[in-house]
Amino acid sequence: PTPLTEHGPARIVAMCNQKGGVGKTTSTINLGAALAEYGRRVLLVDFDPQGALSVGLGVNPMELDLTVYNLLMERGLTADEVLLKTAVPGMDLLPSNIDLSAAEVQLVSEVARESALARALKPLLNDYDYIIIDCQPSLGLLTVNALTAAHSVIVPLECEFFALRGVALLTETIEKVCERLNPDLRLDGILATMYDSRTVHSREVLARVVEAFGEHVFHTVIGRTVRFPETTVAGEPITTYASNSVGAAAYRQLAREVLARCPVE
Ligand code: ADP
Ligand code: MG
Repeated sequence: PTPLTEHGPARIVAMCNQKGGVGKTTSTINLGAALAEYGRRVLLVDFDPQGALSVGLGVNPMELDLTVYNLLMERGLTADEVLLKTAVPGMDLLPSNIDLSAAEVQLVSEVARESALARALKPLLNDYDYIIIDCQPSLGLLTVNALTAAHSVIVPLECEFFALRGVALLTETIEKVCERLNPDLRLDGILATMYDSRTVHSREVLARVVEAFGEHVFHTVIGRTVRFPETTVAGEPITTYASNSVGAAAYRQLAREVLARCPVE
């Protein structure tokens, strides 16, 4: 990828699938780290009250005073009071913890409740090339906020039997957000994850996903490997934890695809 001489405005990507355990958080961390390796300025937004993204980057969510929750709900607070640097040069984190679950309820009574995150991210757009939002496993108000803030969506799909179940509902939600709140939102791609080339089953599921989504499916496929759970324990991306691993190479390839598909203007 071509080096950048200046940064921003950021492209905001929502990592979204209402199913849990499909690789949203893993893909957010590792796509982000790979983009940062390629010289992009990256901000990762933990938008799941579980705080798994924060944990995956070595942050203990319980010890945080300020999180993305405060940024959403408190006027006058600026992002740099909440932002954390990560060990990856060029990659920052807006952390979250269980406090964020209250936002889902509190936002309901707010004006423009769907665009709270978009408003919070606006002052940061010129500081980054990519902002990746790690969504929670639901299609509730927090996820709608992520989709309203985003330019595009990446949908990780696990190469498992019921992978396609629920995708219609997700596509419908994306279309609704597109019609009512964010006309520029588009689907960047479907990312096949947890692929096991040794099983016929994985190959079949992948073939069906390609059949259903055609060119929307990224060429990069993320294989199933125990290295990913290991990185969570280590609290760092696979690109630094096991830099020469197949998993690290896969996320670097994904980063190149993302850069080619949606160049930052
Ligand atoms: P989500 O955010 O969609 O719930 P995660 O990224 O947290 O999913 O992944 C769920 C679990 O699967 C985690 O324990 C993670 O370490 C593991 N995992 C993610 N990607 C892979 C993979 N390619 N191979 C094996 N395990 C993976
Ligand atoms: Mg997650």
